[in-house]
Amino acid sequence: MGEFLTNAQGEDVVAGVRTPMPITQMEEKFPEAYKQFVEVCGTLENHYRDMQDMEFTVENGKLYMLQCRSGKRTAQAAIKIACDLIDEGMISEEEALMQIDAKSLDMLLHPTFDVKALKAAKPVGKGIAASPGAAAGHIVFTAEDAVEHGKKGEKVVLVRLETSPEDIEGMKFAQGILTVRGGQTSHAAVVARGMGTCCVSGCGDIKMDEANKCFTLAGKTYHEGDDLSLDGSTGNIYGELIPTVPADPNSGYFGRIMELSDKYKTMGVRTNADTPKDAKQAASFGAQGIGLCRTEHMFFGPDRIPAFREMICAETVEERKAALDKIEPMQQADFEGLFEALGGYPVTIRFLDPPLHEFVPTDEADIEALAKAQGKTVAYIKQVIADLHEFNPMMGHRGCRLTVTYPEIAVMQTSAVIKAALAVKGRHPDWNVVPEIMIPLVGELKEYKFVKNIVVETADKIIKDAGCDLKYEVGTMIEIPRAALTADEIAKEADFFCFGTNDLTQMTFGFSRDDAGKFLPAYYANKIYESDPFARLDTVGVGKLMRMAVTMGHENNAKIHCGICGEHGGDPSSIEFCNEIGLNYVSCSPFRVPIARLSAAQAAIKAKKK
Ligand code: PEP
Ligand code: MG
Repeated sequence: MGEFLTNAQGEDVVAGVRTPMPITQMEEKFPEAYKQFVEVCGTLENHYRDMQDMEFTVENGKLYMLQCRSGKRTAQAAIKIACDLIDEGMISEEEALMQIDAKSLDMLLHPTFDVKALKAAKPVGKGIAASPGAAAGHIVFTAEDAVEHGKKGEKVVLVRLETSPEDIEGMKFAQGILTVRGGQTSHAAVVARGMGTCCVSGCGDIKMDEANKCFTLAGKTYHEGDDLSLDGSTGNIYGELIPTVPADPNSGYFGRIMELSDKYKTMGVRTNADTPKDAKQAASFGAQGIGLCRTEHMFFGPDRIPAFREMICAETVEERKAALDKIEPMQQADFEGLFEALGGYPVTIRFLDPPLHEFVPTDEADIEALAKAQGKTVAYIKQVIADLHEFNPMMGHRGCRLTVTYPEIAVMQTSAVIKAALAVKGRHPDWNVVPEIMIPLVGELKEYKFVKNIVVETADKIIKDAGCDLKYEVGTMIEIPRAALTADEIAKEADFFCFGTNDLTQMTFGFSRDDAGKFLPAYYANKIYESDPFARLDTVGVGKLMRMAVTMGHENNAKIHCGICGEHGGDPSSIEFCNEIGLNYVSCSPFRVPIARLSAAQAAIKAKKK
């Protein structure tokens, strides 16, 4: 496109003080200069082999070119330009893929604000752009309110100090999530990205009054029901409703770029998904498997949490097993849904990971209900909850440590995985259903073997009793530095490694992933770190551990396959590093799958050039 103005300087066009004319009218007014201009445009574009942004002037009928540069472009424009340049024979497919900013593909997948309306709106605050997209709705302060209003079809924005797994139901119903605390890998950010929901986190300027359901920002107090809009791509917060337009993920150019990406990438791209809905969404975006199913997210539904809490409050192994028996069929149904959604692609299921305190009620009424349901006293339940308190729960009783203390949980989860795989294989004999069971937070070979033995014993018995043939794999997350340092030992017993770089970053730096957002800005300002190590892999330190683990792992187990499922699995520069160290796949939230496909292709093209 082009514009021009007569009797004017360039500034008049840029400043918008006068309305320019479309470039086609130049042909009528100055046919000679226009002809020459079109020729020069061709010369410049051919020279730079890219779409150009050009400035020119015509004085006394003579054309002067003032400036040219590669034109800025939206994601929509970028994919069309890339396809056009291939079709014109101007550049190769590889060059075209390299031209596109992979991160910008995000814009094609999430609802966006109406451009005009956004321009007219004025932000009232800014947080961290944690999950892209546009959200506009009425403010709610609790997950329960989000569910209640969301079910009625109302658009709501959930505003919290921070979110926890208990808020998941509410987050599902919210258009967007705004948190006062947290960063790129805090709960709200990770879950929102997984759901494809817009999220702005860590807006420290908000003065929150959760008890009275209100907050103050930029001198104004916002109450429940007030209008709010969030831009998850910039972190901007607006105190009004800005209209949104839905995304069209199946645009022709987009599909073509994705196909080309698959042609050139050498790493697989999987997804982090916990529900069949997310898994199907990711499969439609081109995911070739699930790299991480966080099974704990399956316990929070209103029909499941009571049995899970019963399990936590059990006084004896028998009581615990009875509660787990109630959960097992639900888990099996979940896993069947995941295997079905992926149609025979690999599915990695990670066993229970978070500390148990995240599952217990905090509300007095809920505690009383739990006590009543279990025939226990309120005092007993309160004591159980108090006993679960840890000073540093992220380094506490979680991950495979839960299995070491409560092996019954791993037995139940193994049983659910294997029975689900057998059922789906029965329904689709031609599918290659190979469940990959992943043990979290391993730091020691003997600890891993303890859990693996439980898995193998349980799985083999079920398979034998069913009289079927089912292959399954057992592997571990590498998310504790000690696991990376002893990867040669662990590899002897593992079918796969998957780098949990959220925890690996947390534990290598010694930064809490939920709190680092508070002090990291000072590190950027003082040029100590350039970027958030939770968003962009620290290839120097954390990356060294990863490279070491992959190399040592392969030395002792040539067949081991390695992937990544931390948030970095959807970040282009981190993906390039993963390609360099020879990972087999990256896994990321569904809405980042297209980004990962293109990034993996770009990484492979770059590697070929070296
Ligand atoms: C990780 O630590 O990178 C990971 C994927 O696990 P989670 O985020 O669930 O701790
Ligand atoms: Mg982890």
